Amino acid sequence: MPSDNKFLMLIRNFKLIASVTLFSFFFTGFPYASEPLKELSFSLPTDLQSFRKIRVLVLHDKAEVKVSCEAPFKVYDDQGRSIFQGAKLSGASVKPLAMGLRWWNQDIPTRFLLVQSLKNSIRVGGKGLYRDMILICKNPKGKLDIVNKLDLDDYLKSVIPFEGNPQWSLEALKTQAVVSRTFALTRMIERQKEEYDVSSGVLSQVYVGRNIENSRTTQAIEMTRGEVLMYNNKLFPAYFHSTCGGATTAANLVWPVKSHPALTGVECKFCEKSPHYRWQTKVTRAEIKEKLAKNGVPVKEVLGLKFGKIDRTGRAHAIIIQSTWAEKTVDADAFRIWIDPMRLKSGLITKIKEGPEGSFIFKGKGWGHGVGLCQYGMKYLGELGYGYQEILGYYYPGAQVAKIDAIAAA
Ligand SMILES: [Zn+2]
Repeated sequence: MPSDNKFLMLIRNFKLIASVTLFSFFFTGFPYASEPLKELSFSLPTDLQSFRKIRVLVLHDKAEVKVSCEAPFKVYDDQGRSIFQGAKLSGASVKPLAMGLRWWNQDIPTRFLLVQSLKNSIRVGGKGLYRDMILICKNPKGKLDIVNKLDLDDYLKSVIPFEGNPQWSLEALKTQAVVSRTFALTRMIERQKEEYDVSSGVLSQVYVGRNIENSRTTQAIEMTRGEVLMYNNKLFPAYFHSTCGGATTAANLVWPVKSHPALTGVECKFCEKSPHYRWQTKVTRAEIKEKLAKNGVPVKEVLGLKFGKIDRTGRAHAIIIQSTWAEKTVDADAFRIWIDPMRLKSGLITKIKEGPEGSFIFKGKGWGHGVGLCQYGMKYLGELGYGYQEILGYYYPGAQVAKIDAIAAA
């Protein structure tokens, strides 16, 4: 990553883990054969206005949280009644009760508390600086979940500096903005009946609040205001990953999803300069045995490894473990997540050979699941002067950018 900032490096590495693990967590479980295939097309909802604000889970399962506001604030109960207000708030304690919530020493019969503050200045649990409003909810376990509700584009202002890199070209950042907005909107449509739309960590795009906002990424978001990707007038999840390693692959080959014309995979000669273009790592037999057992695939000994199904990009979609008496086939994407997605960076494994002291040497290309946009390819195309619509059209064939004013921040 081209950044000198160690904190950003750390967070970006975390983000990359998040990106590569995202859908493996959703679909972990082997084999997939018995699961229904997930639909990847989403019709636009009629009440689009209600999709302007996204709900982000920022803290989960807490026994107590402390809330601070650096500007005038108001607190509402689940009936919309204003129950507290003030010029500033310093570390108000909130705890779950059997029949409601306790705000400092006051017991309130409510399912949630909504805290709204001027100047977007809410802190919770000593973390983040959140825009707009937070919901403090009692979850089914009787613990507290904290949800930040804010404009979709304000959310993107914190997400894009991680998911992209503020130093990349403006066209690359605009590409990322449309992709991340589309991805978030599909999640919002999918999760309307849930308590929140996206989490702030490994299951979604990484979000830590407004501290990380950057003027260049914010500019890219504003220049693409309300723009999303559509195929045949329907939304689809605009998957993306760090580096494809030569070609992107089809979503339905990686996960138990229906095939989608914009997510079938394209050739990519543009990510060769990525630091993740080629990789090599050593994994011991003992580690493979341990990680397989931990994930419900016990083997007596790991005698050898072979590729199972390989697609036209060279990606392995199955790994065969040769063991005493038997062979076991596991999903390749699940396998690399189980072992270590920071070392086995992609399913594009080009070689597995015997290494020293009972180990295997894995050689491969790219980082991430390989579906949709290749971010390092996007970066290079942006440097070559391609516009964001051209870049999007390349990685998502047949998809078009559509502007939806109803979801744009006022
Ligand atoms: Zn690529």
